[in-house]
Amino acid sequence: MMVTTHALAGMLLGSVALFVAPEFAPVAVLAGLAGGAFPDLDLYAGHRKTLHFPVYYSAAALVAVGVAALTPGAWSVGVAVFLLAAALHSASDALGGGLELKPWLGESDRAVYDHFRGRWVAPRRWVRYDGAPEDLALALVLAAPAAALHDGPVQTMVVAAVVVSGVYALVRKRLVYVTEWLVPRLPDPALDYLPDRFVSDFVR
Ligand SMILES: [Zn+2]
Repeated sequence: MMVTTHALAGMLLGSVALFVAPEFAPVAVLAGLAGGAFPDLDLYAGHRKTLHFPVYYSAAALVAVGVAALTPGAWSVGVAVFLLAAALHSASDALGGGLELKPWLGESDRAVYDHFRGRWVAPRRWVRYDGAPEDLALALVLAAPAAALHDGPVQTMVVAAVVVSGVYALVRKRLVYVTEWLVPRLPDPALDYLPDRFVSDFVR
């Protein structure tokens, strides 16, 4: 799934605070956005393994939700929602496509790494690849209530995430063809800055 889909899921998760503890809703929504996007910061270093922890984020989130319930405050709520959103992201990556340059081919058996069991979880492919039409549809479904529940800057961020998702979905496959053309033409030192799966398919 696109990082924007995960971010929108996190924002919607944070929006639950509107009904539980509205005074913490702004921090919860921002924490949801940050936690939803955070795991994909490992894009260039062990993607879907280094910062993806489907089991450990979930366990930590349970503890953090307990702490937030007992001692509600901006920090405890923020940490709890951040961990919940990161857990949701990591777990839901298993429902998407595999870790490969062209996930729509369905050749990879690696969706996300489960550090607890020490093995890769296989992709379910409910969303075949990031930027797929069903991924964009999911982003819209998550964005609609988030946009309706908020106004001001949060609503603007939701709309911006939808626009970015739409543009990405439009160019997603073309990006791979650009990569295929570009990578063999890059000087060797530049290859060090690309994710392994981009390089290994063409060069190594
Ligand atoms: Zn991810």
